[in-house]
Amino acid sequence: MPVSSPRSAVLVTGCAGFLGSHLCEALLARGHVVRGVDCFADYYPRALKEANVAKLRSTAGFELAELDLTRDPLEEVLDGVRTVFHLAAQPGVRPSFGSGFDAYLRDNVHATERLLGALAGHSLWAFVYASSSSVYGDQDVYPAREDAPVRPVSPYGATKVITEQLAGAFWRSREVPVVGMRYFTIYGPRQRPDMAFARFLERAVSSRPLPVLGDGHQVREFTYVDDVVAATIAAAERGERGAVYNVGGGEPVAVLDAIAMLEELLGRPLKVEHAQANPGDPRRTEADVSRAVRDLGYRPTTPLVKGLAVHLRAVERQHPVLTGALA
Ligand code: NAD
Repeated sequence: MPVSSPRSAVLVTGCAGFLGSHLCEALLARGHVVRGVDCFADYYPRALKEANVAKLRSTAGFELAELDLTRDPLEEVLDGVRTVFHLAAQPGVRPSFGSGFDAYLRDNVHATERLLGALAGHSLWAFVYASSSSVYGDQDVYPAREDAPVRPVSPYGATKVITEQLAGAFWRSREVPVVGMRYFTIYGPRQRPDMAFARFLERAVSSRPLPVLGDGHQVREFTYVDDVVAATIAAAERGERGAVYNVGGGEPVAVLDAIAMLEELLGRPLKVEHAQANPGDPRRTEADVSRAVRDLGYRPTTPLVKGLAVHLRAVERQHPVLTGALA
């Protein structure tokens, strides 16, 4: 699989983030030379991102370029790169409404266009990029297939639709070999601190009430980070260029049912505090992954209860770092 060759490197944008740091570790373990790019955007504290890359920084075969894809020169960092995993973005649904939208336009739309433009004409093996289940919004039919209409219910989701459209344009006009990944709620160690499980687990280990948005009956397809990493690497190896793939964990559950699982793991009841539902959150996310199964050999191997147990142990270990960074 020519994702990289002996004298070439794999580029991972957003390498200091949750998914990017896991992907870099997996690529290094497979023997690739990995060049990571991140600007340490202030969406969440730098201390957490530094912790994400601490092990990577001392791993042979890894180098980190701290640069902003929207404004810094890219030629040097792209030199000799054969495969790009483009994960850098401004994530999160709620802050994408209102004045925060500028950051989404810049880091999701402009950064992607600039990177694709800089890569046009390069001899690339693959350009795998992060899209999101947010492109679906609320659907009439579940599980959602990739050919369902896109109906985002947040500005964040809209920027992911544009990301996909930009990738398609550069595939059709400049032959950049793009493959899009529609990730469904990723969880596991180092999950972003704004995400539901990270917030639930941090509160659970410090015996505080869990903040649940809305009634808690919204359904989410949670996907364990190792399964996401495997699908992402498989997409570079054998994904159809120009296509998009759903990547879901295969076990959609209501948020309150996920909390019940957590109670079982902890062996004690948890208090829940309901807050106002988020207008940008769909009622349901549920992925039809048959395209990824067929083309990528995708098979999620981590049941929710197992992944949640690993995530819980990681939060218990990191708890002082996490609360210190968020204080
Ligand atoms: P993250 O915030 O942890 O990582 C993203 C990284 O990108 C950050 O470290 C940030 O500093 C960096 N970045 C942002 N703008 C940049 C720029 N202009 N130049 C260089 N670096 C920049 O997010 P994550 O949860 O790891 O998500 C990774 C990708 O997957 C994102 O594209 C996100 O939209 C997508 N995604 C994530 C999920 C999920 O559940 N985590 C679900 C669907 C899609």
